[in-house]
Amino acid sequence: MSIVLHGVAVGAGMAIGRVHLVLRGMDDIPHLELSDEDAVKAEIMRYEQAIKGTRRQLEQLRIAIPENAPTELGAFISLHLMLLSDATLSREPIDIIQSQHVNAEWALKQQTDKLSEQFDAIEDDYLRVRKQDMLQVVERIFKNLNGLTTEVVTETDDFGEDTILVAHDLSPADTIFFKDSRIAAFVTDAGGPTSHTAILGRGLDIPSVISLGYARELLNEDELIIVDGSSGVLIIAPNEVILAEYRRRIRKFRSHRRQLNKLKHTSATTLDGMNIELMANIESVADIKSLHKLSADGVGLFRSEFSYINCDDLPTEEALFALYSDVIKKLKGKLLTIRTVDLGVDKNPRWFGQSQALNPALGLTGIRLCLAEPIMFRTQMRAILRAAALGPVRMMWPMIASVAEIQQCLMHLNTAKQQLRERFEVFNEDISVGAMIEIPSAALSINAILKWVDFVSIGTNDLIQYTLAVDRSDEGVSYLYQPSHPAVLKLLQHIVRTATRLNKSVSVCGEMAGDEQYTRLLLGMGLRCLSMNPNNLLLVKNRIIQSDTLTLETEAQKILRQEDPDKVLKLIKRLNATNEVVEINN
Ligand code: PEP
Ligand code: MG
Repeated sequence: MSIVLHGVAVGAGMAIGRVHLVLRGMDDIPHLELSDEDAVKAEIMRYEQAIKGTRRQLEQLRIAIPENAPTELGAFISLHLMLLSDATLSREPIDIIQSQHVNAEWALKQQTDKLSEQFDAIEDDYLRVRKQDMLQVVERIFKNLNGLTTEVVTETDDFGEDTILVAHDLSPADTIFFKDSRIAAFVTDAGGPTSHTAILGRGLDIPSVISLGYARELLNEDELIIVDGSSGVLIIAPNEVILAEYRRRIRKFRSHRRQLNKLKHTSATTLDGMNIELMANIESVADIKSLHKLSADGVGLFRSEFSYINCDDLPTEEALFALYSDVIKKLKGKLLTIRTVDLGVDKNPRWFGQSQALNPALGLTGIRLCLAEPIMFRTQMRAILRAAALGPVRMMWPMIASVAEIQQCLMHLNTAKQQLRERFEVFNEDISVGAMIEIPSAALSINAILKWVDFVSIGTNDLIQYTLAVDRSDEGVSYLYQPSHPAVLKLLQHIVRTATRLNKSVSVCGEMAGDEQYTRLLLGMGLRCLSMNPNNLLLVKNRIIQSDTLTLETEAQKILRQEDPDKVLKLIKRLNATNEVVEINN
């Protein structure tokens, strides 16, 4: 009988392949009692060797980071090295071996259970997720105790093309090296939607599902499984009917992709000749490659947080300037929109400490944190201003709730410019500045906000969360997270109409922009610029080139008059199924 497991969809596409269990679980750890002091000494030495070996591997890994890897990968490996050096892993298991006369594996297992409980008790989401980092380090120590190589990476060469890696969790380092490997898919038991693995995994082009819970328990080496990275499903022991269906889906997916690839150089122009700007959301220099490959018009959102998280200190102006200069050089004249750092909810730097707030998403986050840390804010502003002298760069402020916040941002911008003048630095005096509209109060004050900024970009991820009071990262309420809720659509319409009337540039950079089912609705509302994960760009373009904005305007108005969310969904479906849409894969 086939078993279907549901997890979090991370990578698009599907694969049929054979299981390779990458990392061992903790349930089959032997518990041995050591007979005498000599045995204890030998066991302690074995543990110390395992720690040394693990450190050596992590250091080697740090040196071997591929050029195209995201800049944050080095920081993740440093975090693992730091965890390894902590007494909780480097010393306390030795104390257990000594006091209980047990084997190193059993001591480490006990210590891991204790640490896991401590992590689980942490209220802060971001810190709790770091448990996975601790477990990844522990997995490495285990493997070293067993004399096994811990590098998934070095093993990949021997994998067949139908190998599906199944792990309790994979470290970011492992996932990043998959970029060049030939594996068919990867799945993990752990990893929430905001874990490092998920953040990095999304940018990879391998079918993958994470957060499956107990997949490892249910799977055997070499067993045949199906991974559906588009819907977040893993199918164990598929029967012939299911296999045939998935073979058909995979063929269709591939042929769809081939057809979509032909659109790379087609301009995103609607049937009635309206040009739509398609921009990319990026998080690192590495993402620029796919931006060029897919001919995106530029960067509509550069999430700059990764220079700040997992570091002990704030990045310097020079470090940020070097990074932004590199991005500008690689963009070859395309527009770069740098969002100033958006920290405080799930992305917390270590120096910021653990958030004590009961509702961090309503606390000191986004622009509020920047305004509370003016030195940090102006340091980043100076780096952006200097970079803006090297190419087309805009500065964008996150989580704006009021005009007063924009006025404060402008004040800091003036101070930052003055500081650069005093240092005789070259910078762009006339840099364009914009606000992210992702809080309902900002959406409703858009008229006033637009008097102070050159452009706005709608962050639908947060706008939906705050409008509907639904935590965007809480799986338990995900069924209430509805981009098509009439209240959300009304806010979108208000923003777009006001910006268009005032002749100011407006775009969407939340996930809604990259979800092809909303493309036509957004066009109908008057949006002409969408910024998204580059992987979605061709799907959205495919919709655009088969749409007529004049028809869509009328249809969008019908949808906007609708008060019932279910009817809205039906109308959106109908909008996507009208005659002029010729699906490219049909
Ligand atoms: C958003 O909120 O829609 C957005 C693009 O910002 P982030 O997802 O980084 O919060
Ligand atoms: Mg946001």
